[in-house]
Amino acid sequence: MPELPEVEALAAYLRDRAVGRRVERLEVAAISALKTYDPPPSAVAGKEIIGAGRHGKYLDVFFEGGLHLLVHLSRAGWLHYRETFPSNTPLKPGKGPIALRVRLDDGSGFDLTEAGTQKRLSAYLVTDPAQVERVATLGPDALALDQPTFAALIRGQRGQVKGVLTDQKVLSGIGNAYSDEILHAAKMSPFAITNRLSDEQLATLYEAMRTVLNDAVSRSVGQKAAELKGEKRSGMKVHARTGLPCPVCGDTVREVSFATTSLQYCPTCQTGGKPLADRRLSRLVR
Ligand SMILES: [Zn+2]
Repeated sequence: MPELPEVEALAAYLRDRAVGRRVERLEVAAISALKTYDPPPSAVAGKEIIGAGRHGKYLDVFFEGGLHLLVHLSRAGWLHYRETFPSNTPLKPGKGPIALRVRLDDGSGFDLTEAGTQKRLSAYLVTDPAQVERVATLGPDALALDQPTFAALIRGQRGQVKGVLTDQKVLSGIGNAYSDEILHAAKMSPFAITNRLSDEQLATLYEAMRTVLNDAVSRSVGQKAAELKGEKRSGMKVHARTGLPCPVCGDTVREVSFATTSLQYCPTCQTGGKPLADRRLSRLVR
């Protein structure tokens, strides 16, 4: 799932490539992906793209006249920039991977795609990003906080740190992958309880968050959109590396269930060498 660094890189790519271009047409191939109907997709035709940015993990493409196309890429969504399109025929609604296509006046443009059969990519055409409830309720951006504000925010929650870091209403931009990496860099158990963290632990966690996210942004920005996904994986130390050696200490990276997914961690670096117990015991005893 694209998180803050990847969405930031996509926005940077669009700022570089698409800003200043006029939209020829916004085509909707996956009707269910576009969650708004007023203004209609035709409202952006002829409008210049004047910027691209991000709200947490939401990509925001803005057009002259005050229109915004907000996109949540969900688990398997991505943006593919095309220098040209094979044909000028509008996309037909169907079951393919393309959800939306934006054609620009120089013949280039971009497709918002979603792999797999579960379609969860969501797009919104609005006059104000705050009209999207999940954007309006986002917590502060993970890279826009100073350390005292971050410490107060995290300590104000009472929960497992893994869940708190990924709760978009508390802090926006961090998902399953980067939270694993941040907790590994901070040498902290994913199940540590936030309101019991010391000042020192919170300072370490803050530094780890900044370092992991900034490193990922600098690796990603400037790359071609198509190459970003691979880059995300290559920078990971524990996430999606179950069974592989921790690059810091050599211990084996382990996995444990968490919420609707699983998390990866290094016992030596993060939990005093002890493997975490799987809380979803029902699986074993049923
Ligand atoms: Zn380790």
